[in-house]
Amino acid sequence: MDLAIHDEILWCACVKASRRLTAAGKLADPAHDPRSLFPWMVRGSWMNDMNQVTPLIDFAQNPNIGPQQDTLFQGLWKVAVQDLLQNTAHRYAHNEPLLQAAPGIIASKKHNIDGFGHYNRFDHLDVEENHPATEYDGAWASNARLGRARTAHFTVTSHVRVRLTGSLLDDDRLEPRSLTSLGRALHTVADVFAHSNYVELLLWSLAWRGRLEPDFINAFNFDDGSDNAAGSLLRCPLPAHGPRAENLLRNAVLWYGDSPQETPFVSALFDKSDTIFSLLHIYAAHLLRTDGKPQTEPMLDIAMALFDIQGAKLIKGAWAVLEGIGNVFDAIGQGARNLLARGLDSAADRSTNSTARDLMHDTAHLVRHYDSKKAKDWAEAGRLNFLARELQIQMLEELRGQSPATKLLPHHALLAKDHVEDEAGGRIRFKLGCLLATEVSAQIIERHFSPEEPSLGDYDQMASRVLIHPWWLLEQHPNFDKTLAPLVQKAGGHERWQDQSISGLELLAGVL
Ligand SMILES: [Zn+2]
Repeated sequence: MDLAIHDEILWCACVKASRRLTAAGKLADPAHDPRSLFPWMVRGSWMNDMNQVTPLIDFAQNPNIGPQQDTLFQGLWKVAVQDLLQNTAHRYAHNEPLLQAAPGIIASKKHNIDGFGHYNRFDHLDVEENHPATEYDGAWASNARLGRARTAHFTVTSHVRVRLTGSLLDDDRLEPRSLTSLGRALHTVADVFAHSNYVELLLWSLAWRGRLEPDFINAFNFDDGSDNAAGSLLRCPLPAHGPRAENLLRNAVLWYGDSPQETPFVSALFDKSDTIFSLLHIYAAHLLRTDGKPQTEPMLDIAMALFDIQGAKLIKGAWAVLEGIGNVFDAIGQGARNLLARGLDSAADRSTNSTARDLMHDTAHLVRHYDSKKAKDWAEAGRLNFLARELQIQMLEELRGQSPATKLLPHHALLAKDHVEDEAGGRIRFKLGCLLATEVSAQIIERHFSPEEPSLGDYDQMASRVLIHPWWLLEQHPNFDKTLAPLVQKAGGHERWQDQSISGLELLAGVL
């Protein structure tokens, strides 16, 4: 998910946990309110995200940027936390304890970022290799795996658990270091919903059981038949029992088995195509930046070096930090630019659309030979959006061969719910992902902040009930589908998910 969304999920979860602790009479000391200590959890989530820079450093084959990397990330964290507390926090609901704690946190000497600098694919559930047989090994449907493909299973049962263990190692589990480890676990919990087909399988399972309204299902199954840039491209239809209408799976982003329970709960493939897709967005963000900074070639190199960090605002605030060590990151940014240019050239060679092909080659040339005026005009004319869409269509082509006999992996660029989409189905999927992530996070935070020692057994139990294939979840709790379906449809309304979550819309109430 985008960093700002991760922060909001974590914030809403802190508000919910704080309320429950207060109601249970377990929050005597205001300094132990999860809302006051929220920034240290954000630090963990931030570290997970910024660590995505390191694969790019590897791509650029930069041998040793150790001390500079350290300086960069220490500096960037200080900029990020200051921005969070002095700007963003003012927009949050129920923010008084946070604003009170803010000056102390900014002045704190504990802003070191230990353990920083290593990308771990399990932090985000990334599947790196396009080898479906490894993900869908023979055991995914067993009682032990509960429908989880390999990466999802390992992440939930082992990786998150390790981070939670780290959060309990200190004598004082409300120390910044412990809370940072907790924040890293919670980042991954949010990605369980954003970077997998969990939400889609939940919707499909409810539809399969006849619990969703026809209008709601039709919104997902609607297909205007077009591939043009004006229509919706990414589809997650909800097929019913029986033979499927001919075109129902056209442009479907998820691998579909014969039924929901025969479709594994799998996280998204993040391979070279997804890397190129992300880099193209960073390139566009640089060209369209509105923060008044010069759109120069060195600025592009820096933007490209901060892989997958799409917030131009962060880059703006970080300019002073970056300036001193810019030369090191120029090399990485140039590596990324070459990677993007090569990726576009090879996508062009695969393209059957001659307009797209020419545009890809021309863009590759522009990426290599910086011409900000021309490139900016292209971006403003929407050409880069068109290209991004062409890259998605190429990834969709791979999924055309989907069948129960040939299980394929869904691409991150197609499936991830990292930010709000403007199409109806995408909006609902995004909101559901945020609501579910907030509920599960609130539960974990509540236990962590309780006066009683939290136990990993509690997490294991919750994970085996909820962080499993949604079909198994519904099977474990008879009649739960009946209470869940109206709530899911309510989440599809116009209200913001943050307001719905804080006003008490609980999808998993009773089973969490
Ligand atoms: Zn992530």
